[in-house]
Amino acid sequence: MPDLSSPRLAIVGGGPAGLMAAEVLLAQGAAVDLYDAMPSPGRKFLLAGVGGMNITHSEPYAAFVARYGASMAHIRPWLERFGPQAVRDWVHGLGIDTFVGSSGRVFPVEMKAAPLLRAWLQRLREAGLVLHVRHRFQGWTPQGALRFATPDGETVHSADACLLALGGGSWAKLGSDGAWVGLLRGHGIDVAALRPANCGFDIGWSEVLRSRFAGAPLKSVAASPDGENWRRGECVITAGGIEGSLVYALSAALRDRIEAEGSATLYLDLAPDRDLARLRGELGRPRASASIANHLRRQTGIEGVKASLLRECLSRDDFQDMGRLAESIKCLPLRLTAPRPLDEAISSAGGVRFAALDPGLMLLARPGVFCAGEMLDWEAPTGGYLLTACLASGRHAAEGMLDWLGRRSTPG
Ligand SMILES: Cc1cc2nc3c(=O)[nH]c(=O)nc-3n(C[C@H](O)[C@H](O)[C@H](O)COP(=O)(O)OP(=O)(O)OC[C@H]3O[C@@H](n4cnc5c(N)ncnc54)[C@H](O)[C@@H]3O)c2cc1C
Repeated sequence: MPDLSSPRLAIVGGGPAGLMAAEVLLAQGAAVDLYDAMPSPGRKFLLAGVGGMNITHSEPYAAFVARYGASMAHIRPWLERFGPQAVRDWVHGLGIDTFVGSSGRVFPVEMKAAPLLRAWLQRLREAGLVLHVRHRFQGWTPQGALRFATPDGETVHSADACLLALGGGSWAKLGSDGAWVGLLRGHGIDVAALRPANCGFDIGWSEVLRSRFAGAPLKSVAASPDGENWRRGECVITAGGIEGSLVYALSAALRDRIEAEGSATLYLDLAPDRDLARLRGELGRPRASASIANHLRRQTGIEGVKASLLRECLSRDDFQDMGRLAESIKCLPLRLTAPRPLDEAISSAGGVRFAALDPGLMLLARPGVFCAGEMLDWEAPTGGYLLTACLASGRHAAEGMLDWLGRRSTPG
């Protein structure tokens, strides 16, 4: 155990990653100052609780780890120390129960983040955390002290080691604005550009569709990035395109394709409970003098936003050809032209590259400076994977810091 009676440790960024790092360091008796640019910590964490805080997932561990895709090898060591079950136990330790939703997602009871954050901050304060709000990190002095902009002007704080947990670049008004990217690059640190993850996309609807259906949910549909691998769920038509959990789940692949090819196709199945043969049979029935919209509604139940989407995307001839119409219901291609801007995304891809860090998440270019959370170069779908990895990386980086301090204080 390192002698932590004297070192002063700084954490910059009071989201889940920074707060979890503080918990680990305080538990070892360290003096910890936490700085945040905002008037209070954990603002994005609170927002994440607005629509139902999904803190982790109950699926089997191997499937859980696989959700981190290309970054799995980097994230696995964090999760081995603090995985989905540990997250649940930790929430319970704050006096808040959890439950598993029908999708396997894990939520705190009441679904909210506020009670959890309140209990957590109280426990951290009791453990001695010193919180400095309205302190915007500006980089380092030539001597290595941390520089902050505050309402009273610039201030400088020294620490024996520091941990940055500055978040990604979405929802800038909540504090994580990605301004640190240029700052760290200026100090020679390799940072991959931040990109939207779990995001919506632009399509460019006609005025008719936009004015009548912006905000309309598309329920009981399936979507596919290639017309072969389908996933069921829900999405929402927006003024400029499409968003929602089903789209977010496919968004990394779609975003990468747009970057490579200029556009991407998202395929929708508007009637996943009916197969093509059934739809062909239903639509092939005589329609007498009924309009196509009425025939479609009577025979297949498709109406409203789904019917308008078909009308929007098909030529007049195809809309009137019942065979083509049936095929389009099962596989309607939508051309996505751009992901929505980073600020609107649920999370960010990109960040400090793992090659710039040692296994304890210390910056190779700045010994004594550790990084954690969404500011690292990984991405994951929604479903609790984001918060779990942020919490786990906060623990991992804090343990890396304790190791580093221990090695420094050990002679020889
Ligand atoms: C609408 C929405 C819903 C979400 N829902 C979920 C969900 O249900 N489940 C899930 O797993 N994830 C969810 N997320 C994602 C999750 O909230 C984030 O991944 C997580 O908060 C990131 O944690 P972090 O600690 O790395 O960064 P953040 O929570 O972004 O915290 C970073 C902190 O750093 C501070 N900061 C930034 N720059 C500076 C600076 N220069 N100086 C000082 N301080 C600075 C910020 O003020 C902020 O407090 C959601 C996100 C959004 C936007």
